[in-house]
Formats: sequence, structure tokens, C-alpha cells
Amino acid sequence: MPQKPASFAVGFDIGGTNMRAGLVDESGRIVTSLSAPSPHTTHALEQGICDLVEQLKTDYPIDSVGLAVAGFLDPECEVVRFAPHLPWRDEPVREKLEKLLGLPVRLEHDANSAAWGEHRFGAAQGADNWVLLALGTGIGAALIEKGEIYRGAYGTAPEFGHLRVVRGGRACACGKDGCLERYCSGTALVYTARELASHGAFLNSGLVEQITLDPNALTGKMITTAARQKDPLGIAVLEDFSEWLGETLSIIADVLDPGLIIIGGGLSSDADLYLDQAVNHYSTRIVGSGYRPLARVGTGQLGGDAGMIGVADLARQSVLESI
Ligand SMILES: [Zn+2]
Repeated sequence: MPQKPASFAVGFDIGGTNMRAGLVDESGRIVTSLSAPSPHTTHALEQGICDLVEQLKTDYPIDSVGLAVAGFLDPECEVVRFAPHLPWRDEPVREKLEKLLGLPVRLEHDANSAAWGEHRFGAAQGADNWVLLALGTGIGAALIEKGEIYRGAYGTAPEFGHLRVVRGGRACACGKDGCLERYCSGTALVYTARELASHGAFLNSGLVEQITLDPNALTGKMITTAARQKDPLGIAVLEDFSEWLGETLSIIADVLDPGLIIIGGGLSSDADLYLDQAVNHYSTRIVGSGYRPLARVGTGQLGGDAGMIGVADLARQSVLESI
């Protein structure tokens, strides 16, 4: 029997600064990957995508391309309506790129792509009703219901990051104030550290010294590193973060009642600093606490590759469905 030829799909993770293209096989393994800066005009961005596919095509047979996009798409995943860090505005990206590449193209929201990766090949295999909560610069979220991506009537669900949880709270880039992601994300760690440092006395805190030196240079990573080194301000910031994450988990559980919540995104690699505490808060704050099963809470297995792997698999499935 002749062996079936290997099938590869390219999964793109298109961020505001860089785009990565992973060549993904049928088992969700990234065989090789390329990256390039994300251009700031529509034409250059689309050309940049084509260039990376061309480079991968010289060595591998490619049957489809998937794009994980940080932005709002229409429910049919044809049009990028708005992406805050990308030039596309109401652009029929899927059809345009399909013509330019001469290959089938699948478009998907970045959090949905990452959730699909974990669902097919990672931490959520076998879970039918579950939520991905991606904690990074902001909050990304995806809901898998009965094994399918849930997107709502107009393609924007679920958008937990911009739930207004504090009236008159911290200003958000979306134009509102008091949004959840201003309290429970990597950016939130920085806000909280500055606020706590201005109110309280934290003796022997290197973090306070750093804030005094240059408050604008502070990053979420500096805070988690400080907490790991038992810096008193770092620990206080992570305690505050854990409480907010507990609130967030309880909101998700009360609204959607999932069986599993997976923490993904850049902050998930520091979950040992906050997750147990957050789950303790969550378990006491859901309605009917003590009289209902708790959703399992864990971290993703695919890390920053989840989006590329997920959208490549979705692209491959679209081809199979069209045959
Ligand atoms: Zn907001």
C-alpha cells in the first residue's frame, strides 16, 4: 500500500507587533515556524502573509492556511470588522487572501483559535462544555459548547474582558472604565502595583524602588518575578490579582456553568503564584456554593502556540468538509 502523503496546514498568529506562521501536521505538531514584523498597511500585511506561505511552500506541501486574528469578525468568519492593532477595517480578508494565496483560507478569532487548539490537542481534550480564559495584556475568552465554538448571534461572544465591574474605575482602551481586564490581566498587575505603592508602606521592596525610579518601565513580568522572590509589594499585587481572578471565575461559572475553565495567555506560565488562591476565592463566591459541582480549573498545555495549532486544524477541517 502506498503511504498517504503528509498533509500540512499553515496556522498564522497575527498580533499587532509580530506575526508567526507555523507549519502544522495532522496531529497538531508544529514542524517548523517563521515570524516577521506585522506591517501596518492592509496591502503590506497581506503581502507579508503571502511571503511567509511562499517560503514554507518551497519545502512542504501545503493544503490550507488558517489565520488567528485578534479582532472582531463576522459570525461566518469572512470579514475582519475591526482589529485594534491591525489595519483591517470591514475587510473581506478570507476571500481576498484565498485569491492571493491560491489556497483555501480559514479565518478565526485568536481566542477561539487557541481554544480549538487546546480542545483538539491540549488540556481540554474530551471536555464538551468549557471556557478558555487567556490572561495577557488584556483578557481573551472563548467558549466551547457541545464541542463547537460558541460565537453568539453577531460573532463577538464571549467578551468577559470588558464587563464593567467597577463603576468609575480604571480607564480602559475600549473607551469604557472599570472593565474587568483593567483588574485581572498583565496590564492590571502594573496598575495595581502603582496604586498599592502609592498608598501603602512596603518595607524592603525592590519593586517600590523600581516604581520610584521609573513607573512607566514596570511590566507584569517584573511583578511576577518580584513575587517569586518574596518581594512584599509583589506578593500584595498577586493577592489582589488572585481575588479578581476568583471573581472572574465565579462570574463565568454563574453565567455559563462550564465543566472546565482553562487559563491560557502569557500569565498562565506563572499560575503557581495565584491559581490555588483564585480557585479558593471562586469556590466561595459562586451562587449555591457548597451545593453544586465546581468547574475544574487548570492551565493550557500548548502555551503561545495554541492559536497557530488551533487555526491550522480548523483550516484543515474546512477543506475536508468542502470535499
Ligand atoms: Zn474595556
